[in-house]
Amino acid sequence: MVAVFWSRGGPDVLVVGAGLAGLACAKDLADVGLDVQVLEAAEAVGGRMRSDRVGGCVIDRGFQVFNTAYPQVRERLDLRALRLRPFTPGVLVHTDRGRLRLSDPTRAPRDVVDLVRGRAAGPRDLAALAVLSGRDALLPAGRLKHRRDHDTRTALAAAGFSAPFVEGFFRPFLSGIFLEEELETSSRFFHLVWRSMVRGTLCLPTDGIGAVPAQLAGRLPAETVRLECPVEGLTDGGVLLGGGSGGAEVKAPVVVVATGPGPAAALLPDLAPPAYRTVTTYYHLCERSPLGEPTLLTDARRRFLNTCVLSEVVPSCAPDGCSLVATSVLGADRPGREHTVRAALAEAYEADTAGWELLTVRTVPAALPAMLPGHPLSRTSRIARGRYVCGDHRATGSVQGALASGARAAREIIADLRRGAA
Ligand SMILES: Cc1cc2nc3c(=O)[nH]c(=O)nc-3n(C[C@H](O)[C@H](O)[C@H](O)COP(=O)(O)OP(=O)(O)OC[C@H]3O[C@@H](n4cnc5c(N)ncnc54)[C@H](O)[C@@H]3O)c2cc1C
Repeated sequence: MVAVFWSRGGPDVLVVGAGLAGLACAKDLADVGLDVQVLEAAEAVGGRMRSDRVGGCVIDRGFQVFNTAYPQVRERLDLRALRLRPFTPGVLVHTDRGRLRLSDPTRAPRDVVDLVRGRAAGPRDLAALAVLSGRDALLPAGRLKHRRDHDTRTALAAAGFSAPFVEGFFRPFLSGIFLEEELETSSRFFHLVWRSMVRGTLCLPTDGIGAVPAQLAGRLPAETVRLECPVEGLTDGGVLLGGGSGGAEVKAPVVVVATGPGPAAALLPDLAPPAYRTVTTYYHLCERSPLGEPTLLTDARRRFLNTCVLSEVVPSCAPDGCSLVATSVLGADRPGREHTVRAALAEAYEADTAGWELLTVRTVPAALPAMLPGHPLSRTSRIARGRYVCGDHRATGSVQGALASGARAAREIIADLRRGAA
């Protein structure tokens, strides 16, 4: 712990936004003795990682999975306290030939039937999969970050995968991770994601994805976060509040904008955030679980990104006697879309979905940044003297990216304060 850098009555640092990036930044600054205040527009922390209660169910604001292998996750979070519930290793793919299982033979040896029979992958693709997984798991992350960057489709072809396997497995599976279906995302990012999948476990916290930011916020000094405190603009000496406190100025020598890309560009007009991907999740309730296992199911025809029976992963997320199904699609909701999705689910689950109750729909317009080849995996937080920015749009669109960006902002602020340049 080092001494507080100065004390002028107000906080040393104002962090605008209590998503993962803002919370990580605030924690690292508080840990060195700085007086930090986080101003959050919403009524709860978490940003894109929030959970709600709807009709007795726990609903995440857009289906997402939690990966235990991310370095920032391992460093910052008490995973045991999150009471994580795992997905089955591997995925199911709904195809014209029925449902195929692609499992990780090192973790689920009993489930490799489709691989061994060559239904899901031929020998060439199996060999390429083994090499890709082994290399990405074992190479240091630094090496992966500095490999030549292509789009993911080119990288998969170069890794020896056949076009049918890319179409039938990688394209539907990765569409749900990148939130784009052309495989145009940076191959560096793909290799980092693949590494984390091979090394970690995909799971969900028992209390919903919102438990992750809630735990981070709980580790901040008391009263660090002020909720329902939207920031309208930056002033020479701090920020201008909007909402009920409209017009009030909060002063601080250092301001960190951790708001997510759109609001960040409004507060910092010189910022050019990347384009963002939109995703919609449909949450359905049904009486009987249409799949008796906690497994992600993708669609070779790409009528949806992925679907899963959430209550198979976290039984307590739905009332007794009900099953909760989450299904995500690219883009926004529109009239008739749920009907189309329901029809595709009937095929994929081989179930009668006509009686399923549509519980709720969540569309996240700015869900993930577009990460095309050349996308920097980490960018400086420094904008101007006393002005910093962090968030997944400054790194990668992931839990790891958001936390790492917050950590980088804190490191840069501390360094600048120490040399009197903040
Ligand atoms: C549907 C979906 C699925 C995803 N799936 C995965 C996944 O499977 N794996 C993975 O690793 N990542 C996933 N992600 C990405 C991950 O959730 C994000 O990268 C991460 O949560 C971004 O955190 P952030 O702090 O950068 O931004 P945000 O979470 O957007 O936080 C910004 C905060 O700033 C607040 N704010 C905005 N404007 C103001 C203002 N003017 N004043 C005060 N406060 C303001 C907002 O209310 C918000 O709380 C997914 C995201 C979505 C939406």
